[in-house]
Amino acid sequence: MTGKPKVAICWLGGCGGCDEAVVDLNEVLLTVADAVDIVLWPIALDFKYDHVKAMADGEITLSIINGNVRNSEQEEVAKLLRKKSQIVLAFGACACFGGTPGMANFRSKEDIFNWVYKDAPTVNNPNGVFPQPVSNVDKKELTLPAFHESVKSLNQVIDVDYYLPGCPPPTDLIAHAVTATLENKLPMKGSSLAPHKALCDSCPRNSTKPQKIKLTEIKRIHEIEAKPDICFLAQGVLCMGIATRDGCGHNCIDINLPCRGCFGPVEGVRDAGIKMISTLAAIIDAETDKDIEKITEQIIDMAGYNFRFSLPSSMFGSLKNPE
Ligand code: SF4
Ligand code: SF4
Repeated sequence: MTGKPKVAICWLGGCGGCDEAVVDLNEVLLTVADAVDIVLWPIALDFKYDHVKAMADGEITLSIINGNVRNSEQEEVAKLLRKKSQIVLAFGACACFGGTPGMANFRSKEDIFNWVYKDAPTVNNPNGVFPQPVSNVDKKELTLPAFHESVKSLNQVIDVDYYLPGCPPPTDLIAHAVTATLENKLPMKGSSLAPHKALCDSCPRNSTKPQKIKLTEIKRIHEIEAKPDICFLAQGVLCMGIATRDGCGHNCIDINLPCRGCFGPVEGVRDAGIKMISTLAAIIDAETDKDIEKITEQIIDMAGYNFRFSLPSSMFGSLKNPE
């Protein structure tokens, strides 16, 4: 080991896209790798958790943790890295807000297990065997991580110093976050390391966004031939750019898809889903309750739409069996 700052990169409950985003740093990654000692990165390097356990508390300068916390192993690793690290960065939508796997909180653990291991049409499990945290096979004890009742964002399990949202975060913001850490130029603890304004501010379609938005009909993106240079809201398609933090480089907009909100709420907003619902209430143009109902019924899966990335960190946390 050298005297370089130590960095851990770890994947909890997520899809692996955040780890790929780090690899996508390309040459920048080589520069970073030269400036730091990577002490844990399970997807790329063969360090064990025991290496981390053997370190002194606070010995790791920066832990970059992606993914949410759904089981006992993820919780244990998150707590271990917190103990050993000076700075913890929640990396990506799952770590920051719970992410799309957080939509599992619409169901109970029991519902999920019944479907996955028993009731799904492709399952063949006549004896109804369910995974157990501890089981004995040939007089040997086998263990599996215990599945928690609900999905949690990282800050619901450990103290988090900084947040870098996105699904996944873009390489320019990743490079900026690492450089700011190494140069000791980080903002106030608790800050998001992404711009503080809304995505609409940088959207190339911003000039076509109506001054006063009035939605009398809501269409899904596949139901129209969306014009590539006109604000989606002006075309009657919902776009979460109005309530979503800027910083992604308008990836979805550039391929003619509306924003779905993976950067989470803009600065100062506590709950991205509630914010979007209140925004919808302001822009839906209807006189009577019946008209409102008719328009809102055009939003298929209202809860899923508004809480796609953020249910665990929302005020509901879980719509079933909150812990
Ligand atoms: S609502 Fe969407 S399409 Fe319209 S300006 Fe904002 S981000 Fe761009
Ligand atoms: S446009 Fe919205 S959903 Fe797409 S990457 Fe950007 S913040 Fe995420």
